[in-house]
Amino acid sequence: MAKTALTHDQQFMRLCENGFGFVSKAIEQLWENGSPDALKYSVINFYSGVELLLKARLMHEHWSLIVADPNKADIDEFLNGEAQTVGLKQAVHRLKKVAQVTVPPNAINSFEELRKHRNRMVHFYHLIDIEEPDQEKQREAVILEQCRGWFYLRRLLGDDWAEVFAAFQQQVADINMSMKRHREYLGAVYAQIQPELEAARQGGANLAVCSACGFEAHVLDYIGPHEHKCRVCLAKESFLLHDCPNEDCGSKILLPIEECETWACSDCGTSIELSDVLYEYTIEGKADHDDPNQAALCTECSHIPETAGTLDNGETIFCFNCFCWPEKIEYCEWCNEPFTGNAEGTYWSGCERCDGQVGSARDD
Ligand SMILES: [Zn+2]
Ligand SMILES: [Zn+2]
Ligand SMILES: [Zn+2]
Ligand SMILES: [Zn+2]
Repeated sequence: MAKTALTHDQQFMRLCENGFGFVSKAIEQLWENGSPDALKYSVINFYSGVELLLKARLMHEHWSLIVADPNKADIDEFLNGEAQTVGLKQAVHRLKKVAQVTVPPNAINSFEELRKHRNRMVHFYHLIDIEEPDQEKQREAVILEQCRGWFYLRRLLGDDWAEVFAAFQQQVADINMSMKRHREYLGAVYAQIQPELEAARQGGANLAVCSACGFEAHVLDYIGPHEHKCRVCLAKESFLLHDCPNEDCGSKILLPIEECETWACSDCGTSIELSDVLYEYTIEGKADHDDPNQAALCTECSHIPETAGTLDNGETIFCFNCFCWPEKIEYCEWCNEPFTGNAEGTYWSGCERCDGQVGSARDD
């Protein structure tokens, strides 16, 4: 058995080759007409490819990270391909926690969606009748989801992680080429909805460029933070539209993500303070200075000063720096500071700001 075992580097190359192979195959299958299973296998293979490539990125940090239970990480088992490995969520989580490599939330959402669709195809395929006339509709849905997935994956493999995947840039370029028909489809959708977009603009909405497909097809008609769906590729993305504080200007401006130190009106240049934006939209922002209700530390982006607050509806939480939507704000049991996350156990372990009881005992 050991004779056929691959080295770590070979294993990494193998993982990448398989990943790229699955993605290419999926794209080919999507346009294959006649075979009833083509669409199904396209969905399954596309996701398998995405997952393998994310695992490869994780493995590049250390092989044991892709083993599902690190306590049982056994190099021989791993090299033989017998170890149970992580899934998408765990891979993304470990990349962030262990390797400080962040996969953007929009990309994660898109990969998650591919995973769910893949699972539906594997488990409930009988529900989908390929003789049905809406087979074409399903193909369209798959085109869109593969476009979104590939846009994000291409950015990771070809830009952010280009060094790690240096030996595979040709594959990235090839897949990008083979997505041409997908892109033509998007172009056709965009052309078709042009009048709708123009009408929205005339009606006073702002249009924003979609970070997935690149078309200016997000229609922003709300002031404040909101999640929108791209009218072309249906990618979901959060935007922060804000009224310029300069009354003579009166513009509605888009405040960019992760730039809350330097916001300014794109029309008149008036600078926009984080505290004013928090005041405008959040309960914490309106609290007095000595009020216990202060903006919370976002554990996604860790921005200081704090950027997460509860919107005026009293329920929804938003980070005005990284535009994530945390589930809750809790208070550290040791230092009493608010953060987005679960405070359980923080009396001992502390939060991002303190080391809890353990740290204080160590200092004594
Ligand atoms: Zn889009
Ligand atoms: Zn202005
Ligand atoms: Zn944040
Ligand atoms: Zn603390």
